[in-house]
Amino acid sequence: MPYRTPLETRLAKKVARASIEHRLIEDGDRVMVGLSGGKDSWALLQILDVLQKRAPIAFTLVAVTVDSGYKAFKHDLIRRTCEAHGWEVRIEHTNIGGVMDDLLEANATPCSLCARLRRGVLYRMADEVGATKIALGHHLDDFVETLLLNLFFGGSLKAMPARLVSDDGKHVVIRPLVFVTEQEALEYTLESELTVVGCCCPACGDLGLQRQRLKRLIGDLEREHPGVKSSMLTALQNVHPRRLLDRRLNPLPDLARSLATAAVPGA
Ligand code: SF4
Repeated sequence: MPYRTPLETRLAKKVARASIEHRLIEDGDRVMVGLSGGKDSWALLQILDVLQKRAPIAFTLVAVTVDSGYKAFKHDLIRRTCEAHGWEVRIEHTNIGGVMDDLLEANATPCSLCARLRRGVLYRMADEVGATKIALGHHLDDFVETLLLNLFFGGSLKAMPARLVSDDGKHVVIRPLVFVTEQEALEYTLESELTVVGCCCPACGDLGLQRQRLKRLIGDLEREHPGVKSSMLTALQNVHPRRLLDRRLNPLPDLARSLATAAVPGA
């Protein structure tokens, strides 16, 4: 089956490359797609569906939507859209929104707690649907923004992995859109005529000021020097531990022994 458009061809190549380089999707996998209804998760589900029909390996897909309990959340629209495409879907209704209201101080940033709570639900759902992998819609821009957030504000040099085994070893989280830009994901969702559904969370769209600032910074740099974002992503795959200052990566030689060796040759 041919790809429908040049954009779909490009995305399929990028996702296939990510899958091969990071062993994301393997023969026999049952891939659970975290489907928020946002542009990135729709793009992910659509392109995995396309690849499933063409790939030389066999894998199945199931979409899982975590409803945080906000009244206006259009989970029915997500279900109907999936059913119209023949995509298996589960909607999990939760009270995450209410739990966050109870736990969070006023003015606290809700997203990290929300992400942890949703991750817990996704792990439980993965067990229920028999998933071997959990696919999330993080794209190239998310990787470089996270890298710079940690670098500028977190005092650590890290982003996120394309493939992550959970601490208890039971779940494998994959990010097949690692080479796909946010703009490509948006355009692909639009050209695939998938309706973007807002999460209805009060914080939605109100990204932390630091992330907003970084988005602007990266956008400005990319306009001035096209290729900056992909260079940052390449850097994440091209780490030179000996050129860093982390002594866990570059243990110091035992000082006393080096002095003794210098004083008594052969000691
Ligand atoms: S914007 Fe809302 S739904 Fe999205 S991660 Fe933050 S708290 Fe959760």
